[in-house]
Amino acid sequence: MSQSAKHLPGVDQLLRSAAGRILIDEFGRTRVARVIAETLSRARRDIATTDLELPSDDTLLANTRSVLSAANPTLKTVLNLTGTILHTNLGRASLPQVALDAVQRVAGSPSNLEFDLETGKRGDRDQPLEHLLKEITGAEAATVVNNNAAAVMLVLNTFALGQDVPVSRGELVEIGGSFRVPEIMMRSGCRLVEVGATNRTRRSDFKAAITDQTAMLMKVHTSNYQIQGFTESVAEKDLAALAHEFGLPFMTDLGSGTLVNLSQYGLPPEPTVQEAVESGADIVTFSGDKLLGGPQAGLIVGTAKAIALIKQNPMKRALRVDKMTLAALIAVLKLYLTPETLVAHLPTLRDLARSEAEIKQFGDALLPAVTAQLGHDFDAALVNAKSQIGSGALPIDLLPSWAIAISARGTPHPNEAIMSLATRLRQIDTPILGRITGSRLLLDLRTLYQPELLLAGLKTVNAG
Ligand SMILES: *Cc1c(COP(=O)(O)O)cnc(C)c1O
Repeated sequence: MSQSAKHLPGVDQLLRSAAGRILIDEFGRTRVARVIAETLSRARRDIATTDLELPSDDTLLANTRSVLSAANPTLKTVLNLTGTILHTNLGRASLPQVALDAVQRVAGSPSNLEFDLETGKRGDRDQPLEHLLKEITGAEAATVVNNNAAAVMLVLNTFALGQDVPVSRGELVEIGGSFRVPEIMMRSGCRLVEVGATNRTRRSDFKAAITDQTAMLMKVHTSNYQIQGFTESVAEKDLAALAHEFGLPFMTDLGSGTLVNLSQYGLPPEPTVQEAVESGADIVTFSGDKLLGGPQAGLIVGTAKAIALIKQNPMKRALRVDKMTLAALIAVLKLYLTPETLVAHLPTLRDLARSEAEIKQFGDALLPAVTAQLGHDFDAALVNAKSQIGSGALPIDLLPSWAIAISARGTPHPNEAIMSLATRLRQIDTPILGRITGSRLLLDLRTLYQPELLLAGLKTVNAG
């Protein structure tokens, strides 16, 4: 050991210092003592092997703090001003208050999750949900699993294990990299039979593909892209009729699956679950946390016969949802029983239906305060923007919106200045996420309801 390492303080001395005591309050004595000991032995090694000077107590404690802080994982809430409403990386739909209350109730207490209070016997955890989904969608039966990818796997595995499933070449979609129809089909244990061409698939293509190895027909809603131009696809009701002609079940994977007609809110239409049921689909799958605005879940509605078979598949047990998801989902579905008040109560629809005029008015009122917080180095302006729904819903139709555009002032390197601002905005307590286009940072106001959080964040960044 070199001469100077002897002058390092001991663990106890650092623990007793003012900064040490603050660390103990925050992280607990055991962890702080362990990390201080590690910091000291690192310092000893550095001194022995390099010409580094003896670190001060403050430096040692600062190093200790940064190790402890880095090992303090937590999910932070963020301000999503990216313009993508249902952002998969940001947790998709925000739940309404009734759902948060329901989650809190069942999470902290036993509940009748799978217990029939009338008979005192074991109950079915899907039952309350099934009740609601039947009433809302008109389907005979329903069940739920962890997410829509799981729903699709479970349906394929139930009806087509070791058998063929014809799907249109125009519908072999990939959603966000981890869900690709061909791969999901293989892992579900069935064989994909590609039918038709990328841009055109006809009823006769499907008919020609049906053999004694065919287990079912499947349609996948191409939710995150559109094929335009010389195109043709087979309508749900025609595919359902064809499947039934051969005694096969027909499933449609809607992906987003909305339960209300979106055009009443001035939004581009998206196929509804009710329409899919009416068209004769035996099984319809859709996500809980896309347009529906609920928790992550995969909903399956369909005929009583099909749903009964799905529920008997042992994989259903492996994919089942927990009580918190169920509680949230039931609370959200209940809102759909009074569609006239849906926009007022469901955050996802509130965001989608917020009018461009209202966003502009909100932005006009907010701009001076934003400009004031930005100081001399940045400018802000209110500009037209396009929000998107995200999560593969309505990909083409962008929603007209307004954004605060921040640009750098008086620097030869505006791009770097904006990148640096965006980085600092990600590092505050409630990170603020926008999107960078060119040398501007756009903060889409469609999803902003708490301007005080934005202003406080800008102030923090500016002070630092
Ligand atoms: C989003 C989507 C899925 C996957 O749903 P998750 O709930 O994300 O698992 C499957 N199919 C389609 C058509 C989708 O749009």
